[in-house]
Amino acid sequence: MKKLTFSFDNGPQPGATEPLLDFLHERAIRATFFVVGQQLDDAGLALARRAHAQGHWIGNHTLTHGLPLGLEGDAERVAHEIGETERRIGPLAHPDRLFRPNGSGELGPHLLSPEAVAYLAANRYTVVTWNNVPGDFRTPHEAWLETALATIEGQDWSLIVLHDPFIAKMLDLLAHFCDALDARGVTVVQPFPPSCILMERGLPTRDLADFVTVAPGTGPLQTPSPPPNQHG
Ligand SMILES: [Zn+2]
Repeated sequence: MKKLTFSFDNGPQPGATEPLLDFLHERAIRATFFVVGQQLDDAGLALARRAHAQGHWIGNHTLTHGLPLGLEGDAERVAHEIGETERRIGPLAHPDRLFRPNGSGELGPHLLSPEAVAYLAANRYTVVTWNNVPGDFRTPHEAWLETALATIEGQDWSLIVLHDPFIAKMLDLLAHFCDALDARGVTVVQPFPPSCILMERGLPTRDLADFVTVAPGTGPLQTPSPPPNQHG
């Protein structure tokens, strides 16, 4: 039996997140919202509270959704991007401290820096990626539906990434998608497929080398140069 987990990234966004939450409520779907910290002003926070109250999980998706942390991830920036967002999420945070790096939907070493891994480990975050990014943010936006269904065919448990601002304009397609899941016997669940979890409460679940940039001259993975040989 195939499974699918929904996640909605880059919100909350007033005007988009409300109809999406209404839709999910009508369909009795529970998902995870990976929120961007800078969107958590009064209106954004109210939407995150509403999502949380509806049983959705709230995860951290950086403060600014700027350059991926693997491309610019010194310790100070990492602590600000992740820590400040977590502070704003506050009591809405999932107990496992969910964090999803941003990276244009691509998996790779651009996602994290060694400093980011150290921060996530020290602060016991659970790092969640994805395995189905059908591109609701790309034109033609409607094409996400077929891409998502095709990706589901190839794997037992999909973790799909959709985005509040885009999917909220295509709730008719989201309804078709949910009907197609039913028709194919795909069960919607809230937990994440283990293959999409890189760290669990701070502990790496796998070799992280494929997801971490090792910049020469920086970071804890750097091997110190040996001292010059004093004796020739
Ligand atoms: Zn994102």
